[in-house]
Amino acid sequence: MEITTRLQLPAHLKPRPTDEASLRFGDIYSDHMFLMDYFAGQWRNPRIEPFGPLTLSPAAMVLHYSQTIFEGLKCYRHPNGRLALFRPKDNFKRLNVSAARMSIPPLDEAFLLTALKELLKIDGRWTPRHPEASLYIRPFVIATEPHLGVRPSQEYLFMIITGPVGPYYKEGFAPIKIYVESHYTRSAPGGLGGVKAGASYASSLLATEKAAQKGFTQLLWLDSVHHRYVEEVGSMNMFFVLDGKIATSPLSSGTILPGLTRASVLTVAERLGLPFEERLLAIDELIEAQKSGRLTEAFGSGTAAVISPVGLLNYQEKDYVVADGKVGRITQTLYDELVGVQYGHKPDPYGWVELLD
Ligand SMILES: *Cc1c(COP(=O)(O)O)cnc(C)c1O
Repeated sequence: MEITTRLQLPAHLKPRPTDEASLRFGDIYSDHMFLMDYFAGQWRNPRIEPFGPLTLSPAAMVLHYSQTIFEGLKCYRHPNGRLALFRPKDNFKRLNVSAARMSIPPLDEAFLLTALKELLKIDGRWTPRHPEASLYIRPFVIATEPHLGVRPSQEYLFMIITGPVGPYYKEGFAPIKIYVESHYTRSAPGGLGGVKAGASYASSLLATEKAAQKGFTQLLWLDSVHHRYVEEVGSMNMFFVLDGKIATSPLSSGTILPGLTRASVLTVAERLGLPFEERLLAIDELIEAQKSGRLTEAFGSGTAAVISPVGLLNYQEKDYVVADGKVGRITQTLYDELVGVQYGHKPDPYGWVELLD
C-alpha cells in the first residue's frame, strides 16, 4: 500500500522543547501522525497528516464498549546521532495478539513497521538529545463504526502518534513504595490481562488512586482467584531476587501482560549468567522471605521506566523494606545493560536494536 503524506505547513510546525531534562510523560506530541482506516473488510488509506483532532461519530463503538488496543515503544538517539528502535517488530506482533482477543481485524505487521519508519523520517527530529530522554511511540486501534448494538465494529482507525518524553528518574534511579492490593484485581483468567486493552487500564484506576492516597507510588496486583499470587506492579511486570535467584511469575495463566522488557530481562539474565526462574510467587512466601532476609531485591519492568526498583512492600497494613530501600546490585546490573543497549552505549549482541536511516 502506498502511504500518502500531507505535511504540516512550515509556519505551523511546533517549537520543539528546549528543556529536555524536565519533559514529562505524554504531554507533548510531534508534528505528524499516521492513520489507516478499516472498512468493507480491508485496511486502507494509509496516510501521514499533521497532528490534530479527529472527527468521530458520537456513536463510534469505542466510546461505548471500549473496543480499543494499544502499544508503546520508544525511539532512542544514539551518541553518534543515529535513531534506534528497540524490538519494534515484537510490539507489532503483540498488537495483533491484542487485536485477536478484542475482535479487531489483524494488521500487516511488516507494513506497520514501514509506516512507523516513514513517520519517523518526518518526525524523528523530535527525538530528544538528552541522554535519558526518548521519543515515545503510541500505536493504537479504535472501533469507529457508529453503532450501538453490541458486536464487533465493522470499521476501525489505526494510528501512530509520537512525542518526546523526559528521563523517567528525574531525581536519579530511585526505589518506589508499593501497596499490595488484596481487594481489587487487574485481570482474571480468561479476561484481558494478557493483552494491551484500554479497558484494563480504566478498571485499574480506582485501586491505584486509593493506594496513592495512602502514599504509595504503585500497586502490586495479586491473582483474582486466590488473592495470593503476584501478577504485576502497576502496569509493569514484577521481579524479585529470592535466595540470589531472579524470579518472575509465569505467563501461562494469561492474566499477565507479556512485557518485552520482561522478556529482555530474562534474556539478559541468561547471557550474563545470572540465575533466574519463572514460577508462581505467593505473597505470604515473599513476606516470609523478607523476614528471614532471603528476599534481597524487587523491581518492575516496562518500556516507560525500563526497570523500576522497589524499596518497600506494604501488605495487610505492615511495611516490609526491600534492599534497605536502595537499588539492589542485580537490579542495577539489569538496568545498566538494557539502557546501555537501547541508547547505544553498549553493543547489542541480542539483535534488538533497529537503526533508522
Ligand atoms: C505494556 C505493559 C507492560 C510492559 O510491557 P513492555 O513491553 O515491557 O513495555 C506490563 N504490564 C502491562 C499491564 C502493560 O500494559
